[in-house]
Amino acid sequence: MLARGAKAAGALALLTMAGPALAAGGSADASHQWVPIAYLVAGVFFILALQGLSSPVSSRAGNLFGMAGMLIAVATTLVMLDVASLLEIGIAIAIGGVIGYVTAQRIPMTAMPQLVAAFHSLVGLAAVCVAAAAYMAPVPFGIIDPATGQIAVASRIEMGLGIAIGAITFSGSVIAFLKLNGNMSGKPIMLPMRHLINLGTLVAIIALIAWWAVDRTPDNWMFWTITALAFLIGFLLIIPIGGADMPVVVSMLNSYSGWAAAAMGFTLHNTAMIITGALVGASGAILSYIMCRAMNRSFISVIAGGFGGEDAGAAGGTAVDRPWKRGSAEDAAFLMKQAEQVIIVPGYGMAVAQAQHALREMADMLEEEGVTVKFAIHPVAGRMPGHMNVLLAEASVDYDKVFELEDINSEFARSDVAFVIGANDVTNPAAKTDKSSPIYGMPVLDVERAKTVLFVKRSMGGVGYAGVNNDVFYMDNTMMLLADAKKMVEDIVKAMH
Ligand code: NDP
Repeated sequence: MLARGAKAAGALALLTMAGPALAAGGSADASHQWVPIAYLVAGVFFILALQGLSSPVSSRAGNLFGMAGMLIAVATTLVMLDVASLLEIGIAIAIGGVIGYVTAQRIPMTAMPQLVAAFHSLVGLAAVCVAAAAYMAPVPFGIIDPATGQIAVASRIEMGLGIAIGAITFSGSVIAFLKLNGNMSGKPIMLPMRHLINLGTLVAIIALIAWWAVDRTPDNWMFWTITALAFLIGFLLIIPIGGADMPVVVSMLNSYSGWAAAAMGFTLHNTAMIITGALVGASGAILSYIMCRAMNRSFISVIAGGFGGEDAGAAGGTAVDRPWKRGSAEDAAFLMKQAEQVIIVPGYGMAVAQAQHALREMADMLEEEGVTVKFAIHPVAGRMPGHMNVLLAEASVDYDKVFELEDINSEFARSDVAFVIGANDVTNPAAKTDKSSPIYGMPVLDVERAKTVLFVKRSMGGVGYAGVNNDVFYMDNTMMLLADAKKMVEDIVKAMH
């Protein structure tokens, strides 16, 4: 997702450059016949990038393809089109590049979702700014209809859609950022009559775009009202969405940012923006669909919001009043060394503790003892799609030992140990049995079916993202290993020596 976020940010660079380029009279000139071909080549690189990003094995190559494509697109826009001021654009790129570089270097893996949300807000804002610039100075953009002297009807529709989607992306992403960053409660905030208000606002936006497009003498207020309503609906749509649905929301906003760029690409007659925007929009939509399926939620119910608002401990029992067993690193080392097969289930806590390297060492030692070790990855484990895959790849865990939920779930029943490290929601059986649970319906890893479950977390009181307790803690075959994940794994490794 980060790579697509970066591509959306690249589309943002094109957005901001394509405006001035066209303002200088760029695109339609016959001497620029190479531009579409260069943009087409960039588009092919973007498709190769998406294909590469579909597997951890090829993801590095995918990233390189994406960077090459964006370089070609940006260089083409700068060199082939008569850009108004290369110096100004150079300064803007340098400032943006330094901010992007420093931010990416400093950001911890655990804060990646909010970074992606912040990137999306910028793409949305850029679409709004370019649409507003084209609206206020339409002549250099070549969007005036000579017959009427007004902005052409098709351009008004494109701009209306671009500004609406851009504004929704901006305000929605700002709320997603605040929720993911903890500046705002992750719980759904329910406004009275919100469905009615949202529907009314959406209908008003669409009606105003239609009116603005066909009106022979359109008034200024129409354009600015569309913009204001779109900003408003972005806030209204995301505020009622609870933390548990945030992954889908971030991916959906990613998709919106692509469509906003594509819509503005039509206004600016820039094929690179149309291609990039459509790729980001379509891949974000597909990812949202896949994540909804992974959480067994319908897209409409995610957008309607309100999920994940129940109080912590509402399902799965409370932390204090039930018996549970505590184990030590030595117990865990002994049990795993005796096992034939151990399945490791990493989650958000492994990312927080940065335990992946110690975990790999532990897995290597077990394999030396003849134990089969596999890693089970839930599609929404951690805080962003592919979070666990990235961390395990960083620790050089072989890809062929890493399995998706549907490929490994049946193996827990045949395994001696399920070693759950910093995962909670993705192992919670309440998702299968308890209709009152906020995660009911989400497919989960069947860890409780293993002969023994070793559960690493820091305290019995700590809950996962959805804020619910987990029955697995209290099962007869579970041993709780209460400690920081990295410390616990390091102790287990020591005990194995
Ligand atoms: P959870 O958030 O459910 O659980 C994390 C667990 O890790 C907690 O039990 C916590 O318990 C423990 N933990 C935290 N820090 C440490 C540490 N330093 N050492 C040891 N344990 C630690 O994580 P899951 O991965 O199971 O589930 C992901 C959840 O996040 C899902 O609900 C998903 O919907 C949501 N989500 C997913 C996104 C994605 O795209 N993947 C994005 C946003 C949300 P304790 O505090 O006691 O240590």
